[in-house]
Amino acid sequence: MPKSLLALAALLASSSALADTLVTNANGIQVDAQGKLERFTGILIGDDGKVKRVLHGEMLKLRDTRVVDAGGRTVLPGLIDAHGHVTPLGFTALQLDLTGTTSLAELQQRLKAYAAANPNARWILGRGWNQELWADKRFPTSADLDAVVSDRPVWLGRVDGHAAVANGAAMQAAGFALNTQAPAGGRIENGLFVDAAMSLIESKIPSPTAAEQDAAFAAAQRIMLANGLTAAADMGTTPDEWAAMNRAGAAGTLNVRILGYAGGIAGMKQINGGKPSDWLYGDRLHLGGVKLYADGALGSRGAWLKAPYQDMPDTRGLQFLSDAQIMEQANAAASGGYQLAIHAIGDAANAQVISTYEKLSTSYGKDRRWRIEHFQIADPADIPRLKPAGIIASMQPTHQTSDRLMAEARLGQNRLGGAYAWKTVEQLGVPIAFGSDFPVESPNPFPGLAAAISRQDLHGQPPGGWLPEQRVTFEQALAGFTRGAAYAGFAERKIGNLEPGKWADFIIVDRDISAADPQAVARTQVLESWVAGKKAWEKAPSAGAERGR
Ligand SMILES: [Zn+2]
Repeated sequence: MPKSLLALAALLASSSALADTLVTNANGIQVDAQGKLERFTGILIGDDGKVKRVLHGEMLKLRDTRVVDAGGRTVLPGLIDAHGHVTPLGFTALQLDLTGTTSLAELQQRLKAYAAANPNARWILGRGWNQELWADKRFPTSADLDAVVSDRPVWLGRVDGHAAVANGAAMQAAGFALNTQAPAGGRIENGLFVDAAMSLIESKIPSPTAAEQDAAFAAAQRIMLANGLTAAADMGTTPDEWAAMNRAGAAGTLNVRILGYAGGIAGMKQINGGKPSDWLYGDRLHLGGVKLYADGALGSRGAWLKAPYQDMPDTRGLQFLSDAQIMEQANAAASGGYQLAIHAIGDAANAQVISTYEKLSTSYGKDRRWRIEHFQIADPADIPRLKPAGIIASMQPTHQTSDRLMAEARLGQNRLGGAYAWKTVEQLGVPIAFGSDFPVESPNPFPGLAAAISRQDLHGQPPGGWLPEQRVTFEQALAGFTRGAAYAGFAERKIGNLEPGKWADFIIVDRDISAADPQAVARTQVLESWVAGKKAWEKAPSAGAERGR
């Protein structure tokens, strides 16, 4: 191309890049600063990717403006998951998925196809098989896998995560043979490793390369955008994950916003020279906090309870840290200027974390936005302590729908008064942030929105909702996934709703979720996801949205 034409092309490119964008004909829905539903019809977006004006029916006559006709479809601010694990979401999605296999032959067939499609995978990792769904119900063996892939290690987990089968190359790589003895609490049978024996192989799986980290992060971004998530709090960001996110930022392939929380004090010291980061790459990456753990999970009876488990009276679960230890770690983070996000599931763990935050509030002032992650089972007497200590409840509505029967078994009917107590928390004026804990649960926020307003799962169970007095309103649910999640990440001046000066992060969906019943809300399909005024993802015609799992 001659020089003059090149110059003209560059001029055209820059002039179109500098035009404003007007989104019109929208059925816009968001939550205003008072918590009320605000309807809007359009958004004027500046060339900097930020909102210039939100329209409420008025027509703008603008020149040099790109017009995007929303066609009357529903437009929402980009949804924010306040508690996810971003890179693990990508790794999970990139693994061989064996859920639903109906025979060993089908497992072998999927393994063969995956191996062919991933010639550079050093190890082939997969999960999801369940021999109970197979006609002969026989566990797979290493020989079954060797018949398909023998040139590199293969490690395939059972659906419940309590067993996995290794091929010969995996056992060889780990230095084991068919006659190797299992450790206490484990079992090995023809290449099948059960419970404690699984670590024999898992400890030998090489940690991901930088290229593998990049691929997982790219996959996670696609899944987020396909589910309408334009931002997420990343709970437990590792130094390697942080490096991959920065590579994406530098390469211009960071298409979502990541609010990072380092995993533990050691990780905190390694990432970014031991201090919170600036908001990087146009507010797309920030390390502002540290994630700590006060206890385990309810399903494995690791949640730390004030009274013994109903279904195992000799245990109260696991206390991870003494009062002195948790205070020391929290102090190390808070004095370094980090926000704290502490995992607490059981009522004893929640009481310990509240006490810790009450003490920290006196030395560090109130607007530190101390976060409790999950806040799943609380003693009703402790919930009124949140607000005065400046604590945010970061909760996951789909944990409630997944866990309810297990929670009843673990706690008994009389100890559920502070279980997944969203409405009680809300009525006490405690800021709420909603999320999913992906990939533990699906990253799709719409079943979460539906659970928040119904206390029912995707099938409408149980009828009338589980402890239905803890339902929140639609506005409160939407706020939890938008403004509330932004506030919980010190990002409320940047994202969480559409108003002048904030980023034009929004999504277009296939239905008016403010008018739909909960089961219909749960089935919402995302059509387009926009970040900073640019379309970052679009649903392919007649294709289902990509889901995390
Ligand atoms: Zn989590």
